Amino acid sequence: MPQEPTTFADKFLRRLKKVDTEQIENFLQNVLREKAFLEVVFDSLTEGVVVTERSGNVVFINESARQLLGLLRRDCIGKSFHSLIKARAILRLADEYAELLEPIKQREVLVRTPAVRTYAITILPIENESSLTTHTVWVISDRTESKRRMEEQRQIDNIESLATLTAGVAHEVKNPLNSLNIHAQLSRKSLANLAPRLEGEPALERLEKSNSVILEEIERLTHIVDDFIKAVRPVRPQIRKFELNKILIDVAELIGPECQAREIDLTLDLDPEIQRVQLDPDQIQQCVLNIAKNALEAVEDLVGRIKLRTILRSDHVLIEVEDNGCGINEEDRLRIFEPYHTTKETGTGLGLMVVYRIVRAHRGALGLRGDVGKGTVFSIALPLDERPVRMLEAQIDPPIADLSSSG
Ligand code: ADP
Ligand code: MG
Repeated sequence: MPQEPTTFADKFLRRLKKVDTEQIENFLQNVLREKAFLEVVFDSLTEGVVVTERSGNVVFINESARQLLGLLRRDCIGKSFHSLIKARAILRLADEYAELLEPIKQREVLVRTPAVRTYAITILPIENESSLTTHTVWVISDRTESKRRMEEQRQIDNIESLATLTAGVAHEVKNPLNSLNIHAQLSRKSLANLAPRLEGEPALERLEKSNSVILEEIERLTHIVDDFIKAVRPVRPQIRKFELNKILIDVAELIGPECQAREIDLTLDLDPEIQRVQLDPDQIQQCVLNIAKNALEAVEDLVGRIKLRTILRSDHVLIEVEDNGCGINEEDRLRIFEPYHTTKETGTGLGLMVVYRIVRAHRGALGLRGDVGKGTVFSIALPLDERPVRMLEAQIDPPIADLSSSG
């Protein structure tokens, strides 16, 4: 027979009859202390750990597991784990495991909490000496953030490669467009010269009409192409010290008349503590204006309220544009910074991409919060010193990206 390892506890239990009450008390105290210590250790893990016995009842569950599964401590111990799980995807996994009793490793499932989150779940059977499964260990980790980060990186790569690609195409289109424009202008001149001689000729009228349509369309195309080129050209900010609040005052002045005409309640809430900040005033104004224009469009048929705000934090300043408009749904949220993503009939889908690139060039961070049907708050965090702004420090909800982390 193999020699069983002998622990202090084993020895103690063997001599149990001979030890006095004090020794038993000490022993139990030690055991309880160790148990409490292990509980603290397990509760400090970010992974959720659940241990069930053969019957499927929970014998151990740590703090993270309770949080991830939305359970209370008193509800868990001794209850059937299956009956505690609410998420259908996890139940399916539990059934799959129960059928085969084979380890399941790092399986990703989508869980509504109510926001959709991605959990990676590992289920491991614990066997005794006779290979009989006595317990099962569940390890649950929340992968939502790392998945989001990957999604962000993909988005950044996407934006940059699309920008480069389009810049090339736009420049190619620009030359023939210029030449078309010159020729259309020349035709107009020739038509004007011919006009006195062909007075009343219906063909002349048709030609004149076509010519002006061609000119108008060329102008429209030129605009679009210019917008594209502007949006995708490299952003090199001309950084200098500038009064941030002044930029917001200027934007309020720019959109003021439209707000007045549409009876939109526009307010400025500026932190007087903010001094001059290192930034490119034109570029940051462009950002705030682009976001404010979106806010104007988002409050379309409502009693609109738009607020422009600045907040001083220890190592960064925050610019926020808040509206009570239509809000942005989960799906769009991931794509709003992509070039050409628009939900508007006449949108270009370039406004936020420009914001994205400018903020990134300023080593800042962008945030986004809000609810569909209630409104949106866009935040731009700009660093006050050399260090880029980190999303977490800025306490802004990552929409998308801690732009500084992308190199
Ligand atoms: P565009 O305004 O031309 O559509 P943008 O890049 O400025 O392009 O915005 C992209 C998309 O993001 C918009 O089409 C809209 O769906 C969404 N969006 C941006 N800002 C807001 C906002 N404040 N409220 C609701 N949706 C918004
Ligand atoms: Mg826009």
